[in-house]
Amino acid sequence: MQIVQYPHPTLRHVSKPLKRVDKELHAIVRHMFDLMYAAKGVGLAANQVDLPYRLFIINLESDPAAPEKEMVFLNPVLVSRKGTAEAEEGCLSLPGLYADVKRPERVTLNAFDLAGQEITLELDGLFARAVQHEIDHLDGILFIDRLSPTVEMSVKDALVDFELQFAGQRERGELPDDEAVAKRLAELEKLRT
Ligand code: ZN
Repeated sequence: MQIVQYPHPTLRHVSKPLKRVDKELHAIVRHMFDLMYAAKGVGLAANQVDLPYRLFIINLESDPAAPEKEMVFLNPVLVSRKGTAEAEEGCLSLPGLYADVKRPERVTLNAFDLAGQEITLELDGLFARAVQHEIDHLDGILFIDRLSPTVEMSVKDALVDFELQFAGQRERGELPDDEAVAKRLAELEKLRT
């Protein structure tokens, strides 16, 4: 398992709700935390590790020594959004790229944890922003889709670089083609959604 980068097709996949939590999913979540810490991120969605599940993890301190800050959200839904706030965001699937994104300032999140407990949280600040960024991933949306036209222009060259790098990896046979990716996602969906 590894973190996939833009423009990998799984980042555009709309994930389906999980119906089944098994031992292997627990192991997947553990591996996701390890990858997130290694990349110094605060959140990671299943799409970013090439999995088609409505699941994301958060540790706002990005600190493996603070496991009590680890949170896992399954089948998350935003039940309310209030206000507007603008702040800089980055993404482990677009390493090195940062840009200002406008989002609702406060949100109410409804989700389940790995033990099947329902969670409802009223969030603001970085937590609210991270949760919205991760839920976007599950809907196949990236933060670069939410930029103002001016900011969008300023990141254009960087995006082209990512696209060229991805095309190169495909040409060298280092990455599967779209058809193979879609087939694998469909099989994984059958297993747990
Ligand atoms: Zn991201």
